Order: sequence, then structure tokens, then C-alpha cells
Amino acid sequence: MVTVGVTGGIGSGKSTVCRRWSELGAYVLNADELAKQVMVTDPEVKKALIDTFGEASFNGDGSLNTEYLAEQAFEKGRVKALNAIVHPKMPAAAAREIKKAAEQGYDIFVYEAALLLENLEPGSLDYIVLVLADEDKRINRVQKRDSSSFEEIKQRISKQRDFEKATEKVDHVIRNNGTLEELKKKAEIIYQSFKRDE
Ligand code: ATP
Repeated sequence: MVTVGVTGGIGSGKSTVCRRWSELGAYVLNADELAKQVMVTDPEVKKALIDTFGEASFNGDGSLNTEYLAEQAFEKGRVKALNAIVHPKMPAAAAREIKKAAEQGYDIFVYEAALLLENLEPGSLDYIVLVLADEDKRINRVQKRDSSSFEEIKQRISKQRDFEKATEKVDHVIRNNGTLEELKKKAEIIYQSFKRDE
């Protein structure tokens, strides 16, 4: 099985690429979804969340109170505290998912993460794909998608790394400044190269 990481800034088109690959038969795992899964299933993480952020971290039915935790992390400036609890558990959780995908017979495993280059264990994925788009296009697309304001999106972009400077760290760069159809076509061509490799 070929393992692939996908990264890029807010609104660059990562999820769109991953959706296309999922349609083509890849097993796609999103880092945010995996983090949420770790937060509800790992007893040590659950305890640390409650100790750090309080009982309100979970709803009465045991599900994650994502709104509360997002507010604590992003509005109260406690992202580092949240990451310190969850991040150490991510490599093992991702490894379990890779094993599961292989057991289920998938040819291609895809891991989508904005912080991939920061958190990647060297050699843990076969290929890294970076999705890039011009900032004005990203802002415009996210505004349409989330109804966030121009300023909010600018602010979020300013907190991310400059992905344009990361092209040398990756195996494939997808430039997403054209139409959605063009993006999907580029994704398909790269997917075929993975298929040839597996
Ligand atoms: P985030 O990190 O914020 O989750 P992302 O990198 O996963 O963003 P997508 O969700 O794939 O980005 O794309 C952002 C929005 O822009 C989506 O609504 C998507 O449909 C749209 N979009 C992506 N590429 C294009 C394109 N080439 N033309 C028009 N719209 C696009």
C-alpha cells in the first residue's frame, strides 16, 4: 500500500483533492477527525482534557464538546495546551489507521493535515503532496464556503506557515489557481502515478 500525506494552507484545496482520491478508491484520513477520535477514545487524553479544560470538554453523552474546546483553544489562546495533550498520541493513532487500511485491502492511504510538515515522523509516509493557491483565491473560496469575514481568514492564514516556501520538502506540488475541474484533473494524474507505484 502506498501512503500519501496532503498538506497546504487554509482554502488551498486539500479536501477537494482528497475527496477526488477517495472517489477513486483511496482510504482518506483527516488529521482533525483523527484528533477528535483520539480525544473521545483515549482515556489518558480524556483525563488530561478534563484536568486542563474542565468537565465542559465533554457533553453529557460523552461526545466531544468541540465548540467549547475550539473556543478555549483559539479564542482563549490555549492551542499549545490542547496540542500538547493530543499531538503525542497522533503518530500511533495514524499508524493504527494505516494498518486498518492495509488490512482492508486499500492500495492507497491518504493523510490530510495542515500541520503535516511540522508533525511528520521522517519516513512515515511514502509521498507528500502540497496544494497551493494564491492568497486572494483562497480567501475568496473560504469566504464562499464558511461565510467567514475577509479579516478572519487573513488572520488564520497569517498564523500558518508560508507554504510557498515548502515546495522543496515535498514530492508533488498542485497549483490550484484554475477551475475545480482543473484541480480534479491534476489530482487524477498524480493518483495514477501512485497506482503505478503500488
Ligand atoms: P481548509 O484547510 O480550510 O479545510 P482546504 O485546503 O481543505 O481548506 P477545500 O475545502 O478543498 O480547501 O477548498 C476550499 C473551498 O474552495 C471549497 O469550498 C472548495 O470547493 C473550493 N475550491 C477549491 N478549489 C477550487 C477551485 N479551483 N475553484 C473554485 N473553488 C474551489
